[in-house]
Amino acid sequence: MLKIYRLRDIYRSGQFNEAIDTILSNADKVREIYLKVSNSKKPDNWYPFQVVCEKCGKLGTTVVTDYSDGLVEYECKKNLVSWAEGCGHKGRISPFNGNGKLPWKLEWTAKWHDFKIDIEGAGADHCTRGGSRDVANGCFREIFRENPPINAPYGFFLINGLKMSSSKGLGFSARDMADFLPPEILRYVMINNQIKRPVEFSVDANKIIKLFNDYDKILQSGKKEILELTEVDGSSEPYFGANFQLLITLIQIPNLDINKEIESRLGRELREKELKSLNSRIASAKYWLKHYATEEDKFELQNSTPPLMETLTEAQKRFLKDLGSFLINLDEKNKEDVIKNNIYEIARKVPISATDAFQAIYKSLLNKEYGPKVWTLLSAVPKKLIKDRFLTIDVDEVAFLREVGVKDINSVVENTKNIKSISNIKVVKSGDGFSDYIFAKKIDFINKKGRDEVAFLIISDLKDENIDFEEQEKKDEKFWKENLYPLLKDLIK
Ligand SMILES: [Zn+2]
Repeated sequence: MLKIYRLRDIYRSGQFNEAIDTILSNADKVREIYLKVSNSKKPDNWYPFQVVCEKCGKLGTTVVTDYSDGLVEYECKKNLVSWAEGCGHKGRISPFNGNGKLPWKLEWTAKWHDFKIDIEGAGADHCTRGGSRDVANGCFREIFRENPPINAPYGFFLINGLKMSSSKGLGFSARDMADFLPPEILRYVMINNQIKRPVEFSVDANKIIKLFNDYDKILQSGKKEILELTEVDGSSEPYFGANFQLLITLIQIPNLDINKEIESRLGRELREKELKSLNSRIASAKYWLKHYATEEDKFELQNSTPPLMETLTEAQKRFLKDLGSFLINLDEKNKEDVIKNNIYEIARKVPISATDAFQAIYKSLLNKEYGPKVWTLLSAVPKKLIKDRFLTIDVDEVAFLREVGVKDINSVVENTKNIKSISNIKVVKSGDGFSDYIFAKKIDFINKKGRDEVAFLIISDLKDENIDFEEQEKKDEKFWKENLYPLLKDLIK
């Protein structure tokens, strides 16, 4: 169980009085340790304590020069620090019950003594030889005669390989981090790390997506020991966290009700905490897109036919058409996964490589050659746009067959485990005094990897003025039966 203490309250309650008295009574030993451990020479009237000036109320400007009979003698100095000016008041006052505070190295020892601390961490820069931690350890042993707690030095917080700036300036500030990440994710960044190693944080798209995905795995598994430290309400109850990569895509789709979209994919309404999480993730995704996304991460869904569509091959056009028919009949629930599970198969049956297929999607929707994961993108595009853009595409059958058709039957035989069906494809196109004539066999087969595939085996491909189609077809069939079919016959199941 986590309990938070405020040092101000500890001082005020008098809980530190005993430790303060012990430290001030041993000020000479403290001065010795400072000199011995960190080679820091303090004047003989230096006392490790600062009080709140009774006249002007400042703490940082006072210097304590003596301690006797339970009272400290102090002066509020005009020029002690650059950031505040003292009033010059001199006085004697009790150092107890919140009237002042110990310098932090000694404050450590007071805490260790009073709370019986077993382990305490500090930044690696304080844990060097002769550094603050060494001084505190030395004082603790000498004054309290106790052994210091186990040290757990922690590394720096590196952002894109650079040390985080503690205030405004170059790079990231703690403020930026808090503005960007939901609190539970930021806490997770801090605790999901070997303590001695620096926290390496990056705003690169893949790293940020992975960070959220990792946290979602922890959410789903309900890992109590982590969630109690990360969740603001301290609850380890699992809840649904919307996929961050999906959100990055969804926020770039215009006029989309993201809450509704997420609920329909999930197939149920979001609970209160899930809704809160979703809204903070949407804000986070928007912040990321605005401040850290590269041009490659950004896209704009094209309202009218994009110019790059003119560069599509006939196979790419056919793929988009087939894909469109599949997409407009899709259920909302888990649609992203369903698309992912089917899209390669749709491409193979065209046939077209996945690379060419995906490029066709980006060109036709974004007027770009790259973009977010295709299944994420496709799952977010309105069905009306899919219908208008994909289903209206005209495929030139002659050009398509010339593009994807194979003339060498051996390439089919080599790749085939068994053939499911063979059908006739005959395309004739007339114009400009010429006629295009293609006779092909569409071979549906299972390839050697066990996957469905399609091949168009061209039997004849003519471009001529006067083709006797009937005569040609008879010739083609004869050639097929006598020369080609025997090679495939054994593969038909
Ligand atoms: Zn003062």
